[in-house]
Amino acid sequence: MTYILAQASPELVSYLKDLHPEEGLLLDGSMAGARDGALFDVVDPASGEVLARCADACVEDATRAVDAAAAALGPWSATAPRERAEVLRRAFTLMVEEVDDLTRLISAENGKSLADARAEVLYAAEFFRWFSEEAVRTEGGFGVSPAGGTRTIVTHRPVGVVAMITPWNFPAAMGTRKIAPALAAGCTVVLRPASLTPLTAVALGRILQRAGVPAGVVSIVPSTRSAEVSQTWLADPRVRAVSFTGSTEVGRTLLEQAARRVLVPSMELGGNAPFVVAADADVEAAVTGAVQAKLRGGGQACTAANRFYVHADVVETFTEALGAVVRDLRVGPPLADEANQLGPMVSARARDQVNALVEEAVQAGARVAASSSCPQEGGGFFLPARVLADVAPDAQVLRTEIFGPVAPVVAWQEETDLLRWVNDSEHGLAGYVFSQDLGWALRLAERMEVGMVGINRGLVSDPAAPFGGLKQSGLGREGAREGIREFQETQYFSVAW
Ligand code: NAD
Repeated sequence: MTYILAQASPELVSYLKDLHPEEGLLLDGSMAGARDGALFDVVDPASGEVLARCADACVEDATRAVDAAAAALGPWSATAPRERAEVLRRAFTLMVEEVDDLTRLISAENGKSLADARAEVLYAAEFFRWFSEEAVRTEGGFGVSPAGGTRTIVTHRPVGVVAMITPWNFPAAMGTRKIAPALAAGCTVVLRPASLTPLTAVALGRILQRAGVPAGVVSIVPSTRSAEVSQTWLADPRVRAVSFTGSTEVGRTLLEQAARRVLVPSMELGGNAPFVVAADADVEAAVTGAVQAKLRGGGQACTAANRFYVHADVVETFTEALGAVVRDLRVGPPLADEANQLGPMVSARARDQVNALVEEAVQAGARVAASSSCPQEGGGFFLPARVLADVAPDAQVLRTEIFGPVAPVVAWQEETDLLRWVNDSEHGLAGYVFSQDLGWALRLAERMEVGMVGINRGLVSDPAAPFGGLKQSGLGREGAREGIREFQETQYFSVAW
């Protein structure tokens, strides 16, 4: 038993017992163990100890999930939109009711602070509410042929069975952001969560069951056999779409597989967000934004600010002020103390990769301007948050998605240099601009090759806004009206008049 299970959270122990992840597969409306009985360990990153064991789906389970989804597709897509909306609305209510349990669960398996986990649960639940409202806004078109004689009716139909693969960094939101619009559109779903954080997905499965999602409409298939499961799904003629969130590298592999069967792709991939501070920026607001954009979830967010371009006039003030916040950060096991602001990295591998990037940057001439504390005992995957100053504009650390609490700061003077540096990335997910001249900020934002820009704010995620990237950050959008379109295809009827 870890300190978490034994001491810090008896509520979590009891929730985990009820969850019973050893039978964590949601298949054809029932919770089940893997067909071959396999289990895998889920590790608490704050202690390195095993938190729970989870059913480890095999290829046969993956196929059973598609059997159930294919059988459920006809009846589910034929339900009244209002009926689908009400199921989603119930899922929203149940998630909000369970916010405390889900918060602890996310912190326990992912390592993010309780405050960040709570914010994630509420953000994740909003997708159920938003798409319960979108489900009933079906729209189409009616046209008169220019030559007369015929009429055109345009409609949007559900794409069919969708295979979904999600990452570990937002174990609740990455699931709901896909499941909610797919269900609203009338699709059925098979979902494989990341094996570092399967428990939240198991809990989501339970919530969807209780919300009244019919058997087979959603299957949740935790598995360590990631490539086998996704290959099975993408090769299955009954699957029509693939929706993936994760790294650009894995996204490319899945796109290649999807191309063989011309599947409808939706890809939310890696980022390398620039964070621009102008000479006239409100530096205090910029620091607040930087903390939000950099330290949420320990910097393990695709929208995390990765490169800080700060005007030379304010670079010292900004670096000092950000450094002061970083020095004061409370770092420690999230469940041990609600006041802990920064938890561990998700795994030892993730921690080592971030530390290696910092070492490389320092060898290339960067200076560690500030560093937070870091627990030395307890076996967790902790590392200190750091601010790096004097970073060269072509440093490797600016070209890599850091995915950790490290803020490299580069001074800029000329706008032409700034724009070149900002756009010098194969990624184009998010970016941030801080300036008191809104016109300047908007003109810069328009020229930034990214899908989302936070202007004078460090957060861009919003269920009502189209989330997604340009360039190699992905294809398609999640959330907003656009989110449902990812799971619909256009059809038209040419009618003799
Ligand atoms: P990852 O690509 O390693 O894994 C994502 C998922 O794919 C996991 O479930 C993993 O088990 C699975 N996977 C890994 N290899 C696979 C394979 N060969 N075949 C099929 N599935 C496979 O990414 P990660 O480390 O879990 O997450 C971090 C990455 O996700 C970062 O690059 C981050 O930017 C990105 N991300 C993007 C968004 C977005 O909305 N754009 C959101 C969150 C995370």
